[in-house]
Amino acid sequence: MDFLRPTSWREALEIRAARPEATVLAGGTDVLVEVNFGHRRPEALLDLTNVTEHQGWSEADGTVRIGAGLPYARLIDELGDRLPGLAMAARTVGSPQIRNRGTLGGNLGSASPAGDGHPALLASDALVEVASVRGTRLLPITEFFTGVKRSALAADELIAAVHLAPASGPQQFAKVGTRNAMVIAVCTFAIALHPEQRRVGTGVGSAAPTPFRATAAEDFLTAELIGTGQWERPRALPELAANRFGELVAAAARPIDDVRGTADYRRHALGVLARRTVHRVWDDHRTRRRQCA
Ligand SMILES: Cc1cc2nc3c(=O)[nH]c(=O)nc-3n(C[C@H](O)[C@H](O)[C@H](O)COP(=O)(O)OP(=O)(O)OC[C@H]3O[C@@H](n4cnc5c(N)ncnc54)[C@H](O)[C@@H]3O)c2cc1C
Repeated sequence: MDFLRPTSWREALEIRAARPEATVLAGGTDVLVEVNFGHRRPEALLDLTNVTEHQGWSEADGTVRIGAGLPYARLIDELGDRLPGLAMAARTVGSPQIRNRGTLGGNLGSASPAGDGHPALLASDALVEVASVRGTRLLPITEFFTGVKRSALAADELIAAVHLAPASGPQQFAKVGTRNAMVIAVCTFAIALHPEQRRVGTGVGSAAPTPFRATAAEDFLTAELIGTGQWERPRALPELAANRFGELVAAAARPIDDVRGTADYRRHALGVLARRTVHRVWDDHRTRRRQCA
């Protein structure tokens, strides 16, 4: 097995172009499990550990750019205040050891329907920056996932970064697993309020071949909040509206039966997570409004 170790981003892109069959290695928390179990026998590993350019984050013009190689532990510590939904999701990934090594870029690279980073990125309209020696593209997160563990990444491209706006309103992430920690999700749900746009964003994981936005539920709640004048004078969210929101999220799912849960259970659990988290973000929004008044 060839072990390719570039020391700059440019060199990494050149190797990627010359050796598109090489398996990219970031934190290795997915790749090395597959190698150890004999599920993958790569001819070459393209190790990005020594490439520091994509391991940081920056903020400019109202957008946070998270380098693909930023480990979850740093994302939680350094960006938890700006990106609370994504940080909540990151806190549920694996264990401290996994969060020290694992990266958001690796989560996207695996493109698993159960990747915990994805729903929060969907709820916040993230863009994925992908790069090759040919240039750079910014893909809306909704166009990134193309199938189970498949993405729009071309053979000569690397994931460079993720771009998203800092939270302008409350955000939540909720995960159902077969136990509390170190678990692949049975289903996940993320919600973000965008008060300045009077809009609600969602993301659903582990409930379809790809992570997805529950757009009918988003449209329903957005119209409900505008139609009842809630953004001007926020009141408690009516139970009927929260229930309908939950039903629409559950109806958007296309889950399967597997060892972690049945399709019926996943749909039911998603409805519960959606109802619970929509109350949390709306109550949080009302509290903040009262404190600002
Ligand atoms: C014990 C354990 C618990 C886990 N728990 C969770 C969990 O709770 N939630 C969860 O979502 N995941 C979990 N995982 C999976 C894994 O930790 C995450 O998916 C993590 O984000 C992978 O990141 P990484 O940097 O380690 O990726 P790697 O393993 O290095 O790479 C993963 C994939 O992405 C590709 N890749 C990596 N970087 C790039 C890049 N810059 N450009 C293009 N392709 C790239 C690789 O080629 C590979 O296909 C767990 C794994 C383990 C071993």
